[in-house]
Amino acid sequence: MQRITLASRPDGAPTADNFKMESGPVPTPGEGEVLVRVHYMSLDPYMRGRMDDAKSYAAPVPIGGTMEGGAVGEVIASNSDAFEPGDFAFGMFGWATHGVQPAKMLRKVDPAHGPITASLGVLGMPGFTGYHGLTEIGRPKSGETLVVAAATGPVGSMVGQVAKSLGLRTVGIAGGAEKCKMAVETFGFDACLDHRAYDDAKSLRETLKQECPKGIDIYFENVGGKVLEAVMPMMNPHGRIPICGMIAWYNAGGLGDGANAPLTAPKLWRTILVNFLSVQGFIISNHWDKFPAFLSEIGPKVASGEIKVVEDIAEGLDKAPEAFIGLLQGKNMGKQIVKVA
Ligand code: NDP
Repeated sequence: MQRITLASRPDGAPTADNFKMESGPVPTPGEGEVLVRVHYMSLDPYMRGRMDDAKSYAAPVPIGGTMEGGAVGEVIASNSDAFEPGDFAFGMFGWATHGVQPAKMLRKVDPAHGPITASLGVLGMPGFTGYHGLTEIGRPKSGETLVVAAATGPVGSMVGQVAKSLGLRTVGIAGGAEKCKMAVETFGFDACLDHRAYDDAKSLRETLKQECPKGIDIYFENVGGKVLEAVMPMMNPHGRIPICGMIAWYNAGGLGDGANAPLTAPKLWRTILVNFLSVQGFIISNHWDKFPAFLSEIGPKVASGEIKVVEDIAEGLDKAPEAFIGLLQGKNMGKQIVKVA
């Protein structure tokens, strides 16, 4: 089997040198375990955090350890009654061609229900993140205005589509004209602004004001940085901000220690106070109990085409580092996946 390990910790943006491809024997499943040959693996922004040795909600990948990640593949050996060879399963197999996991840590994926790649994006962790953060924390109401950045990614596109179906005005923010076109034409956003076209938060805010004439009721926080700065003064009283991610700062380092990111606390705090804002962070892994309900509501909408899916598939495990570096730079068009087998 082949796997990609963490060769060194990045100083700022990751580079190819931080990763190493290694070969070894295919692992043998123990009692209650299942061996899977990976077909597709997911690349997600959270993996950048695992490369730092900083305090977070999850432990970092050790140097020499396999890069962490979710993947879907075919069961080729099973010591559990729950799976048999030929079944497809999603699990945390890491950046590798094969993986062994206890059966109870795996989710069965039925290829008859659609492409198995959906289990990595729209009907997997990121899609569920967008849905949960919007519906449970955003508490959307018809007629309100929502803003979300990384609008064409698996989280942002779910947020935008569900909000639109609930009768909100949806304004996306994305990097580049092509992504903005996709946000509006494919994902049905009412408008989309290209954050790269604005030098600073103030100029971005001026255009946002035109697109959000009634202010902003929900800011679904995916990125931080310039977008957050532009949005905050536009929040309406009793607005809600689900804090999902802050990718603009992931390469800054020291986020876990609060070291490098500028701390503009006084103005931020006052804005939250005087607008009675509800600001709530969440990590989706604490909410898996609600995943079956999400699947039964959104699964049929994906099957019928009501919820659109865009995937960006890199070919070959060896392409994973390059695709991951690209994801952090916004090069992905839709959910970034790697075809492994
Ligand atoms: P995407 O597939 O959308 O990829 C990340 C995108 O972030 C890039 O394509 C790029 O899009 C955008 N981006 C990168 N740098 C910046 C920047 N400086 N300013 C603005 N946008 C930037 O990612 P996901 O949909 O998988 O994830 C979106 C967010 O949700 C991330 O912050 C992620 O960490 C978070 N997340 C949180 C979870 C939780 O449990 N809380 C679970 C899953 C995801 P563009 O080119 O359009 O700018």
